[in-house]
Amino acid sequence: MTVVRTRFAPSPTGYLHLGGARTALYSWAYARHFGGTFVLRIEDTDLERSTPEAVQAILDGMQWLGLAHDEGPFYQMQRMDRYREVVGQMLAAGTAYQCYCSPAEVEAMRERFRAAGEKPRYDGTWRPEDGKTLPVAPSGVQPVIRFKNPLDGDVTWNDVVKGTITIGNKELDDLVIARPDGTPTYNFCVAVDDWDMQITHVLRGDDHVNNTPRQINILRAIGAPLPQYGHLPMILGADGEKLSKRHGAVSVMDYPEQGYLPEAMLNYLARLGWSHGNDEVFTMDQFCEWFNLEHLTASAARFDHEKLGWLNNHYIKLADNERLAGLARPRMQAEGASFDGAPSLPAVLALMKERSNTVVELADAAMLFYRTPNPDAALLAQHLTDAVRPALVDFAARCADVEWTKPALAAMLKEVLVAHGLKMPLMAMPLRLLVTGQLQTPAIDAVLELFGREVVCARLQKFI
Ligand code: GLU
Repeated sequence: MTVVRTRFAPSPTGYLHLGGARTALYSWAYARHFGGTFVLRIEDTDLERSTPEAVQAILDGMQWLGLAHDEGPFYQMQRMDRYREVVGQMLAAGTAYQCYCSPAEVEAMRERFRAAGEKPRYDGTWRPEDGKTLPVAPSGVQPVIRFKNPLDGDVTWNDVVKGTITIGNKELDDLVIARPDGTPTYNFCVAVDDWDMQITHVLRGDDHVNNTPRQINILRAIGAPLPQYGHLPMILGADGEKLSKRHGAVSVMDYPEQGYLPEAMLNYLARLGWSHGNDEVFTMDQFCEWFNLEHLTASAARFDHEKLGWLNNHYIKLADNERLAGLARPRMQAEGASFDGAPSLPAVLALMKERSNTVVELADAAMLFYRTPNPDAALLAQHLTDAVRPALVDFAARCADVEWTKPALAAMLKEVLVAHGLKMPLMAMPLRLLVTGQLQTPAIDAVLELFGREVVCARLQKFI
């Protein structure tokens, strides 16, 4: 059995976007599934658009997601000698040739075809054929190198996502594989790399479907085995339009910023284009065990923020509270939280996390324990009525020596209610207001327990 070798081959021209992350995830999981090798390759030959910051953004995104590569990162810019070598071999083998047409001449050619109602293309002026006499090479002109694409027949591959795809060679031009200065071009580099890196499975976005027949022809010409190809449909926004900033964050690294956990993002992306029965929630170990190429979805998936939020809530509930505290603390500090003498943050988060879809929501909710309450005067007037004041005074007095645990506080509160003939909300609301400054909090006994005797007594005494 062949050893599975997959790769993720991003162009470092921006951030790591969701579609790229999904491609990386599937390629990684497929290699994991078979105990194979996952290669990271940085396709940085577009010098105008590639930046070191974008390379770093890709590495950061992969690291946040935990998608570790086994080989690489390989940088195409560091492989120039190798590409030149293969160009030389192809020239020698007659599978590539020098073309001296200037860009203006090529454009004029294309224009002629267009005017004749045909597909614009290169007319083969410099293409060597048996018995054909080529023009004399102009002096002082550096030629481009063109691939000698087969003239007839089709290129067919069985795409693991889209099924059989056939493209006629007539549709494919004699591709320029090296520019006059010798720099190789995109499809050529990809083919050489996939060959050298012995890639067995290429999973990538379906914006590359048109490149595939060109790459297959080059691979055949250089005698390389063909990988299996799978072209994943793009990710759409909820409205069915191509996913863009308008739909919210498209950069993976915006998600930690917005309080998402990597395990939620991985689980979400895993299901976005692949299924395993009705399973919605699974670990990456399960995913790697289950992932295959049979259940990839051929139709475009829509990004569903609500579902991501639901999954994130699930993973927040499972997450270690110390870990959540590490994520929430810097945000809360930025919001002016004071942690001195305040309740333990992990304990607070344990109480609050049930209802938080993001760490940002969780941190916001937890702030109530870390800022000085400043109850609104109108709310105070509404809830701190003469009818409840005596009960609150009683409650505050008992706070001095009640056992400071949630059940003891709950029992004491009940006794006070009974003694004063009041119902729970009548007491709970002003208590919340006085202790936290707000009316919405988790269960009051839990909140009181976390604040501790000293803080609760001080805050109650300030108002009653
Ligand atoms: N560099 C290409 C991109 O970022 C991917 C090429 C490939 O996977 O073959 O879109």
